[in-house]
Amino acid sequence: MKTALVTGGSRGIGKAICLRLASMGYHVIVNYVSNDAAAEATLAEICSAGGSGELLKFNVADREEALKCLAGWQEAHPGEYVEVLVNNAGIRKDNLLLWLEGDEWYNVIGASLNAFYNVTRPLLQPMVLKKKGRIINMASLSGLKGLPGQTNYSAAKGGLISATKALAQEVAARKVTVNAIAPGFISTDMTTGLDEEALKKEIPAKRFGKPEEVAALVAFLVGDEASYITGQVISINGGLY
Ligand code: NAP
Repeated sequence: MKTALVTGGSRGIGKAICLRLASMGYHVIVNYVSNDAAAEATLAEICSAGGSGELLKFNVADREEALKCLAGWQEAHPGEYVEVLVNNAGIRKDNLLLWLEGDEWYNVIGASLNAFYNVTRPLLQPMVLKKKGRIINMASLSGLKGLPGQTNYSAAKGGLISATKALAQEVAARKVTVNAIAPGFISTDMTTGLDEEALKKEIPAKRFGKPEEVAALVAFLVGDEASYITGQVISINGGLY
């Protein structure tokens, strides 16, 4: 059975990706950091739909913790490897730079950009050796255009987009593709509390996207038909730029 790891897989977009990959026959490793109940509910949903999965709790922003957990998983599963990695975990801490605290900067960069290194680096070698792998990084519209009040988040996601393009060129010859997805507004816990009615007016499609729509894009990118697509940033935003 092929294995996929989805960071931040317990809720929101990551959860929809876990369910979709499990329905495609992947054994899904659901990563999360703190909400045990949500993670267990996601795993239960995977299993009750006939899929296979496991939980792997670690903070993607913590290099040593991520390395220890991933090495532990590999030791417990000799001969297996993570063929699909979705770097999806992320947080928002919006504030104007004038008032942005150090923690708000470093935590947001940590959960998206440093996490890309912390998780991808240990999992890359087996993909390269097996000459088969898919890496999908969850960026954001904010990382493409920059949004006021999000210098931290825009920097994290913009960095992630550049890392995607650079790594794609490093590993393309080894049949590993690396792409980024840039969602606009998607209905999850991260967007609860935003003024949805006002924001919807600005979106050409006049609605927020659904996590399942992002998961469908991931499903396409992991498939064999997408093997010539690499180093790309694919927007999914209802026409909002
Ligand atoms: P969400 O509903 O807030 O879920 C976040 C997930 O990430 C949870 O599973 C959470 O685990 C996990 N997580 C957070 N920090 C982590 C860490 N340090 N280590 C491991 N796991 C961590 O978020 P979402 O809306 O689904 O967003 C998913 C990704 O899409 C993020 O990268 C986000 O930036 C990006 N994105 C979202 C939108 C949107 O409109 N929703 C738009 C553009 C981009 P716990 O449950 O344990 O906290």
